[in-house]
Amino acid sequence: MMDREKLRTKLQALCRELERQEQISEVDRAPVELDQTSVGRLSRIDAMQVQAMALANQRRRQSELQRVKAALDRIDTDEFGYCQNCGDPIAPARVEHNPAVTTCISCAS
Ligand SMILES: [Zn+2]
Repeated sequence: MMDREKLRTKLQALCRELERQEQISEVDRAPVELDQTSVGRLSRIDAMQVQAMALANQRRRQSELQRVKAALDRIDTDEFGYCQNCGDPIAPARVEHNPAVTTCISCAS
């Protein structure tokens, strides 16, 4: 039997961590400005690459955050721990590793 309270705590910690990362990365996503102080230290192209990476990371974080929040909504329902694709139970070790997971190992591969 899965320890739902432990999994809930893990999901809540994940949620907070993702939101924290979101805040600290805000500065990297700011529109690239070619102001005199940044020239020489970081070229415009470098700055744009940093921005593109920050945006990609943000999208990845946001979809992860959605999965984590969806798992928190699901954790008290009978659906939790079952594959959303085939309906089979998900291996407890898989859920413990990532409580936000929504599919069993065979549907995921
Ligand atoms: Zn499945």
